[in-house]
Formats: sequence, C-alpha cells, structure tokens
Amino acid sequence: MAEKGILTVVSGFSGAGKGTVMKALTERFEGYALSVSATTRAPRPGEQDGREYFFRTKEQFQKMIAEDALIEYACYVSHYYGTPREYVECRLAEGKDVLLEIEIQGALKVKKRYPDALLVFIMPPTAAELRARLIGRGTETEEVVKRRLKRAAEEAEGMEAYDYILVNDTVEACAQRLHRLIQSQHMRASVNKDCIERMKRELEEINAGTLS
Ligand code: 5GP
Repeated sequence: MAEKGILTVVSGFSGAGKGTVMKALTERFEGYALSVSATTRAPRPGEQDGREYFFRTKEQFQKMIAEDALIEYACYVSHYYGTPREYVECRLAEGKDVLLEIEIQGALKVKKRYPDALLVFIMPPTAAELRARLIGRGTETEEVVKRRLKRAAEEAEGMEAYDYILVNDTVEACAQRLHRLIQSQHMRASVNKDCIERMKRELEEINAGTLS
C-alpha cells in the first residue's frame, strides 16, 4: 500500500501570492494534488466550475454539510467555502500530498480533525510590499486595497496558530521552500508508525534468534 500523503493547509493575506506559489509548486514538482473547494460565492470572470471552485447554491452547500461531505467549512465575507472530503481522503490514501488553500477558521478545523496536517502561512516580505502588490494588480480600487490591508491586520492575529511561516520573496524560492517543508514531513515519527513497528518487530526477532 502507498505511504499516506501529507495534508498541507496554506493560508495567507489576499495579495501575498499564495495561489501563484501553489501553482508553481504543482507545476515544478510531482506528487501533489490541489483540492478544489465548494463555495456559494458567484464565479468571477474567467473562473470555471470545477476548476477554481465548485460553485454551488446555498441549498446545495447546506446539503453537503448535512451529508458530512465537507471536512471543514467556513463563512467568509458572507459566503460559504468548504473542502470536499472525498477528493482529499482518496488522494491522501493514494499517497499524494494534498494542498488546501483556505482561510484561518478552516485551517484550525482541519488541524483538529487531522492533527498531522501541516499549517503554513505565506506572507510577503513587508507590509509595504503587500500594499504595492495589491495596487500593482491594477484590478482593485483604492478603497478595496485599504479594506484588504485592514483585513490583513486582523488575519495577522492568527498567524501564531500556524506551524510554519514562509516569506514569499520570489515565487520560485518560496515554492522550493514549501516543497522541502512538505517533503520533510514524510520523515516525522508520527507519520511513520508502521515503519517504527516493523523495526521493533525485526529487533525482537533478531534478539530471539528467529531472524537471520
Ligand atoms: P476567494 O473568494 O477570494 O476565492 O477566497 C476567499 C477566501 O476563502 C480565501 O482566503 C480562501 O483561501 C478561502 N477559501 C477558499 N476555499 C476555502 C475552503 O474550502 N474553506 C475555507 N475555510 N476557506 C476557503
């Protein structure tokens, strides 16, 4: 049977570039599966159902909650967002390292349910750089940029709950660091229980003289 994959939750401020980092990670390295969330918010121009999100009505979303089809869900800016269970659990069982790009309330729920999950927060090098990136996108009004920076200050309050903080100085470097971090989790004692048990058994047998 394949070794179980590592579940990684990535959060970060709007404009921190977490989406770009995740994209770089999945393009550069093998073995990752990016979970697609369900949401009740409307698709933005260019977004496709099943690619960026599964766009669902509130009723459909509530049905998913009732059927326990989501491993977590949260309400963010008046819309529901949730992580479909089946995809995540199947990919983990296949040995894929699964990535969730979700906000903090969801991240904390995942950690409770999957204590071995790795929680990573991606941040820009400085607050001035975050502001410059938000302005540089050219798609947000000054008012929206201000609101996002206020929200970032609120979200920064939750950063201590994460296992690791990664600085997104360049997408390439940050994706490399994230890859190394996830790969190192495969060596954690808590995810290698079978390997530990096997070693104990072998040592017992060798000491009993039943293993040559
Ligand atoms: P957006 O509407 O800009 O795509 O996403 C808004 C926020 O919802 C982002 O912080 C994103 O990480 C978060 N989000 C996306 N999918 C999920 C999910 O399945 N669960 C939770 N808890 N948050 C999500």
